[in-house]
Amino acid sequence: MTLKLFNTLSGKLEEFVPENPPKVKIYTCGVTVYDESHVGHGRSLIVFDTFRRYLEHLGYKVRFVRNFTDVDDKIIDRAKSECKHFMEIADRYIARYYEDMEAIGVRPADVEPRVTDHIPEIIELIKRLIEKGYAYATPEGNVYFSVEKFKEYGKLSKRSIDELIAGARVEPGEDKRNPLDFALWKRSKAGEPAWESPWGEGRPGWHTECVAFVFKHLGETIDIHGGGLDLVFPHHENEIAQAEALTGKPFARYWMHNGLVIVNGQKMSKSLGNFVTLKEIYTKYHPDVLRLLVLSVHYRSPLDFSWEKMETSKKVYERIRQAVEDYETLKTLKVEETAEGGVHPLYSTIKETEEKFFKALAEDFKTQEALAAVMELISEMNKIRNEAFRTKTVSKAALEAYGAAVNSIKNTLRNIFGLLEDVLPRCPVREVVRKELEPASAVLDESLIDLLVEVRQMARERKVFDIADKIRDALKEKGIVLEDTPFGTKWKRA
Ligand SMILES: [Zn+2]
Repeated sequence: MTLKLFNTLSGKLEEFVPENPPKVKIYTCGVTVYDESHVGHGRSLIVFDTFRRYLEHLGYKVRFVRNFTDVDDKIIDRAKSECKHFMEIADRYIARYYEDMEAIGVRPADVEPRVTDHIPEIIELIKRLIEKGYAYATPEGNVYFSVEKFKEYGKLSKRSIDELIAGARVEPGEDKRNPLDFALWKRSKAGEPAWESPWGEGRPGWHTECVAFVFKHLGETIDIHGGGLDLVFPHHENEIAQAEALTGKPFARYWMHNGLVIVNGQKMSKSLGNFVTLKEIYTKYHPDVLRLLVLSVHYRSPLDFSWEKMETSKKVYERIRQAVEDYETLKTLKVEETAEGGVHPLYSTIKETEEKFFKALAEDFKTQEALAAVMELISEMNKIRNEAFRTKTVSKAALEAYGAAVNSIKNTLRNIFGLLEDVLPRCPVREVVRKELEPASAVLDESLIDLLVEVRQMARERKVFDIADKIRDALKEKGIVLEDTPFGTKWKRA
């Protein structure tokens, strides 16, 4: 079955053909780590996690890269307001992000680059853009991309340069040549994080990091670039401009964007007080309920989040889960031998369900239709179960067919949708997390202590001593004493 995807760049449904099958290179823009992840992040992360599982199911060897923006105005503002180092804020929210991802079953990417670990690569990229005449440095120590030099600017968001110029203006105090130009390198203000560069002390602009990460970890052309619809302009447009100005090759063969999340019909924002964090959701509901809600809407449509919809999704989830769990109960009933001949009718429903499921996914990843197909199978399973529970007996043929249906659900809802992994276990990452969500044990796990010691060592090497000290003090509070020796750091329980 050929997979067709809607490509934002062409504005059409296209057959998906990776550049070097079976390899598929995917990049998605990750989070800026200055606050808790919310349902908007959750949607994008769940969509692309599920899509990755689906590609793997199709036999592709996926290399998936998703970044962290760990230096940015919002992180700096938060650090100032808390009187903390900006890295402490970034590290805190990266740790929270991992808790969330593990809870909602989003697997880590193959590479998760951070801006602060890639400053030399970013500087190199900006230097090349200046050399090729696409960027210019100002006497103030800023570097801008010259949008007019890239003739195809606007091709992703379907805007023309003229129309964009008409709507743009240079803000007072800005040193750009053209209002559309965007910053590649920003001079740091006093007290802000700063790195040495040929243009003076500063930090990267947001749009450059993703290009540097893609070039370093995936190459000059990737198969799929993903992200939320809100990133199309200007972020992805700016990524294309930089990458293609340098290489002359397509940056991404397919651009895949998920629709936005609204809350009770309104845009989600802190000022409206309708900001829903992932933690809030999965402390109230099983995390699968959110996954199910996200996948019950086509990824390109808007998703209107509400607690009522979570309730509905919960009922659907319970229906699925119950159908799977009741298999164990069915096995305890009196099993009657079946008369010779004939195949149980449930087998044909299983076959039809799987056909519909994979057909829906192959047609622009219509998870909502794929899910509807599985719900039909569950209705048929429920008929068998209800009858068996009523009579306290089950025929051998019906029991076997029911088992085959459960296996089919493993194949679809578990392996691809990432649901039910605690009742149909597969992914060890997720099992560990579920344990971590329980009340923490009083005794710290040894591997965790080793990890903290290692992280502290990394912090010391980078001379971020406040973080190193915080780790040492926190461990001491838990009764773990560190001793720095010429052979490395040793620890013992006090
Ligand atoms: Zn990006």
